[in-house]
Amino acid sequence: MMAKMMVKDIYDLTKTELRQELEELGEKPYRAGQIFSWLHARGAVSFDDMSDISKSLRMKLKERYSMNRLQVMEAQRSSTDGTVKYLFGLHDGSAIEGVFMEYRSWNTACISSQVGCAMGCRFCASGIDGCERNMTAGEMAAEVYGMERDTGKKISNVVIMGSGEPLLNYDSLIRFIVMITDPDGKGISQRNITVSTCGIVPGIDRLAGEKLGREHSQVNLAISLHAATDIKRKKIMPIAEKYSVSEVVAAAQRYYEATHRKVTFEYALIAGQNDTDEDAAELAALLGGKDIHMPVLVNLIPVNPVEGNGYRRPSRQACVNFKNKLENFGINGSIRRELGSDIDGACGQLRRRKRADYSDTGP
Ligand code: SAH
Repeated sequence: MMAKMMVKDIYDLTKTELRQELEELGEKPYRAGQIFSWLHARGAVSFDDMSDISKSLRMKLKERYSMNRLQVMEAQRSSTDGTVKYLFGLHDGSAIEGVFMEYRSWNTACISSQVGCAMGCRFCASGIDGCERNMTAGEMAAEVYGMERDTGKKISNVVIMGSGEPLLNYDSLIRFIVMITDPDGKGISQRNITVSTCGIVPGIDRLAGEKLGREHSQVNLAISLHAATDIKRKKIMPIAEKYSVSEVVAAAQRYYEATHRKVTFEYALIAGQNDTDEDAAELAALLGGKDIHMPVLVNLIPVNPVEGNGYRRPSRQACVNFKNKLENFGINGSIRRELGSDIDGACGQLRRRKRADYSDTGP
C-alpha cells in the first residue's frame, strides 16, 4: 500500500499546506517555514541540503514527496540587451517557455501558466497546438527560480504573460501568487506581479475579490484587448465570441474599483488589421468614454511575426502615429520596448521550433 502512495511535488505546496501536512506527521508547525525557505529561497536541490532539519524528518519527506525541478533545455541570450529566452523541460517531458528581461534595476520573469494554450488567438504561436495541460503553482514558481539560478540575478517582478491563459488555471495561479509572495520564500510584492488575460470576465471578477492576505488582490492586471470593436476582435481572438469588448472593459473597471491597481490594455499592432487612424479613434472612444473612471494605459506591441500566419507589424512610423493619435484623444499609450528582438521573442515560437526539430522522432 505504502509503495503506491501518491508522491506529491513538495514545491507545489504553499507554506500553509506544508504546515498542515507536517502537523499530520506530528511535526512542529515552525518546521514548515524552515522547509519552505529551503525550497523557495535557499535553493535546496535535495532534502539532504536541509541541514537544520533532522535526518528522520528528511527521510519522511523523501518517502512522501518528490522535488520536481525543471531543466533548462535551451537558453537564447540576446546580444543587445540582457534578455534570455528559455525553453524549460518539465518532469513529464513537456516543454514550456519563459523570458528573463532586465530593465534598469528591475529584473522581470515572464512566465507561462499552461503547457500550450486553448485560446487560439490568431497572431499567437502558443495556441497553434492547443493546450496540453495546466501547470501547477510549483512549476510556475520553478520558472522564476530557474531563471535566477541561470542568470545569477534576483527577480524583482513577475509577469504571467508567457504561454497559457492564467485565469483558466485559476487555482494554480492563486497558489502561485501566495507562494511567490511568501516572506519565507522569494517575498515578491503583489504589486510587482502582473496577470495578463485575454479577457476572461468571471476570472477577472474573481481575482478582484481575492483576499490574498489583504482585503483585495494587489496584483496588476493586463488585458489583451488588441481591437476596439467586437467585429474586429472576433477576427483575431476567438474569446471575443464569448465576452464582448464592452464586457471586458467593464470588468477591468470593476477590477480597478476593487483594488486601485492600474489596469493596462495590451494592443498588438497588426498591419492592415487594427492600426488605422479609425482604429485609434475607436480605441480612444472605448477607453475614454464617460463611463470609464480609471487611469488607462495602452501598451502598444508591434506584432511579432509568426511563421505562416501572415500577420505583419506596421512600420515604426505607423506605430508612433497610432500612439500620437491615441494621445490626441487623451489616452496614454506606450510602445513596448523591443527586448530580445534578435531572439525568438514571440510567445510560443521557441517551443514550436523545437517541436518541429524533434518531430521526426515523435514526442
Ligand atoms: N493568455 C494571456 C497571457 C499570455 S499572452 C493573455 O492573452 O493575455 C501575453 C501577451 O502577448 C498577450 O497580450 C498576447 O496577446 C500577446 N501576444 C501573443 N502573441 C503575440 C505576437 N505574435 N505578437 C505580439 N504580441 C503577442
